[in-house]
Amino acid sequence: MFIARPAGAKGIGLFATQLIPAGTRLLAEKPLFTVASESEAYAASRRLGSHDRKTFLGLVGGDARERSKRLWVEAGWHTVKEVVRDVANVIGKRNGAITWPRAPSYLNARSIFLSNNFALSTSPSMRAIFPNISRLNHACVPNTEANWNANLDHFTVHTLSPVPEGEELTLSYLESHGAVTADRQEALRGFMFECGCAACAMGTPAARRGELSRADLQIKVREFAQSDGSKGELSIMQSMLRMYEQEGIRGRELATMYIATAKMAHSTGALEDARALAKRGLQLEETCCGSDSPFFAKSLADVEKLQLGDLDGGTASVFDTTDLPQVAAAA
Ligand SMILES: [Zn+2]
Repeated sequence: MFIARPAGAKGIGLFATQLIPAGTRLLAEKPLFTVASESEAYAASRRLGSHDRKTFLGLVGGDARERSKRLWVEAGWHTVKEVVRDVANVIGKRNGAITWPRAPSYLNARSIFLSNNFALSTSPSMRAIFPNISRLNHACVPNTEANWNANLDHFTVHTLSPVPEGEELTLSYLESHGAVTADRQEALRGFMFECGCAACAMGTPAARRGELSRADLQIKVREFAQSDGSKGELSIMQSMLRMYEQEGIRGRELATMYIATAKMAHSTGALEDARALAKRGLQLEETCCGSDSPFFAKSLADVEKLQLGDLDGGTASVFDTTDLPQVAAAA
């Protein structure tokens, strides 16, 4: 379904070798190892069995790619500010000491770790290295999402939209997707690279439209914060959802927003809207996590509490998104 191959300045990336439908489970992986800090990475890599160690060393490291990544496992994202120390600093501290074992191997292990680790939002202080998930590069509008599945005891990666053959599989290292380009680039500076994804390529009409749309979203968020009537809040939420849909942003962030908005609509008696919103929220949740995920089960239970009846029987509403322009996921 996909292969690992060079992805230009980003090092190695994963690419679709066929059209992959939305909601496909691409990967289910456990970390090769988890550590509390990068200083433990070398020792952890030495403890790996020969097969896993070979996998680890097969990941590409390099000064130009030093960064940390994140996996989003829930809507309330934890932010862990990653401070990547200078390699020379570490060498300076250790140089001359008798405990300088296999220096090239140490540097190699450290470089691979820095280029490929994820901060886990299940336990924000921990960093993990994965055999394949670590190879996924960033895009501001990604076509995959990684989530922890406690039932499987694995991280899963699902496609969020159909991915054409030859397109790179990407996930987002950012904690939310509504930020304008300058703010996203600022946040990504912590990962030591500049994003060149389609949403950041300001020369294109789609990127310019997305930028205006995100700026509008910022205004909506402020309106929402100042709003005191539930009717007003509902319409603000609805236009935020529409913006996400139009920009091709999918995943748990949006699923969670849909379910929350369904609850809002339900509380104002707009049951037809509540039904459509809940249905779309569950759809998105299943796409990004799978129906065997506890996240899906939780959202389903939340929706069932609203007693909206048969969701399949709902009529078309403003949230029937089939008429919305589908924006190609950023490569
Ligand atoms: Zn970008």
